[in-house]
Amino acid sequence: MRAFTYERAKDVDAAVAAAQNPGARFIAGGTNLLDLMKVEVEKPAHLIDVSRLPLKDIVDAADGGLTIGAMVTNTDLAADKRVIERYPILTRAIVNGASAQLRNQASTGGNLLQRTRCPYFYDVSKPCNKRAPGSGCSALQGINRMNAVLGGSDACIAVHPSDMAVAMMALDARIETKGGAKGGRTLPIAELYRLPERTPERETNLEPGELITSVILPPAPPGRQTYRKVRDRASYAFALVSVAAILDIDDERKVRGARLALGGVGTVPWRARDAEQGMSGAVVGDKTFQAAGEVAVAGAQGHGGNDFKIPLARRTIARAFTDLTAKA
Ligand SMILES: Cc1cc2nc3c(=O)[nH]c(=O)nc-3n(C[C@H](O)[C@H](O)[C@H](O)COP(=O)(O)OP(=O)(O)OC[C@H]3O[C@@H](n4cnc5c(N)ncnc54)[C@H](O)[C@@H]3O)c2cc1C
Ligand code: SF4
Repeated sequence: MRAFTYERAKDVDAAVAAAQNPGARFIAGGTNLLDLMKVEVEKPAHLIDVSRLPLKDIVDAADGGLTIGAMVTNTDLAADKRVIERYPILTRAIVNGASAQLRNQASTGGNLLQRTRCPYFYDVSKPCNKRAPGSGCSALQGINRMNAVLGGSDACIAVHPSDMAVAMMALDARIETKGGAKGGRTLPIAELYRLPERTPERETNLEPGELITSVILPPAPPGRQTYRKVRDRASYAFALVSVAAILDIDDERKVRGARLALGGVGTVPWRARDAEQGMSGAVVGDKTFQAAGEVAVAGAQGHGGNDFKIPLARRTIARAFTDLTAKA
């Protein structure tokens, strides 16, 4: 690990000001950043500890939504009664990720900004455009079983690993920030993440030194919610495919509204809007749900080792919506 300096920010303004230092990085729970520093993938010169900032509350919003402080731990967010009742998709996504110890330490902001688990990103002896721009992508012709089938480019096919972000994508969360050129802003979560294209090293639209201060959840959408995660073992494993599904049906069992987001398959947490629109007004059942699965992965591209994710995603989508109907 390289030497670095450290300071604990006393408030948000101080954190944002300190982030102007060259090579400065925020550290929250540290469960991802420290691992990357140990293998010298991340080499910050200065760490700004934001974990004790007063951003640990979950507050009711006037419109019926929730505002979640960026330092709320994954455990506290998943266990919040309002989240369990109104956004069960979020609780399910969180508790399906990592381990209890990690969730106790990991923060809301850090979870959204965790970096890919592509093995070549961690292996500094191998080419990786995300870690070393212009060096090449080892995964394209290499071991790519865990890599993306949606949103990839010739430069990178790394999966975004967060489960929480997939649920927040389905819930149309908004991200609040401080710092950066505008001093702070609110942006939809869909605009937080960037496709890799030619610059996979830039994963988000945040500016250097821009701090996530909170996540806003709009009022819960009507209908039932579920999060289904398929992985190599029952716990403590990243998704091969995950599905965040919300389904609202009328008395004639027709779809009034559907939302669908995917994890484990996309270079960003993936919202499948075409599939959602295709379901509108359709009678619920196998035909509708299988069609949704087809549409959701219509543009998918496998790279050999990860080809299996395409049919797996189709089936997992159909299964998630079937579960929601069965419970109705
Ligand atoms: C063994 C293991 C298994 C895991 N399994 C899963 C899994 O199945 N599903 C899953 O979703 N996750 C999984 N994780 C990842 C885990 O959820 C993340 O490591 C964690 O959520 C990151 O949060 P943190 O607060 O520790 O972030 P940190 O490590 O502190 O920071 C991560 C990044 O975010 C930046 N950052 C942090 N907070 C802010 C902020 N407020 N504003 C701006 N930038 C910020 C940091 O600079 C850093 O770049 C796993 C991790 C491990 C080690
Ligand atoms: S997929 Fe992305 S992270 Fe993985 S080796 Fe290629 S460039 Fe690096």
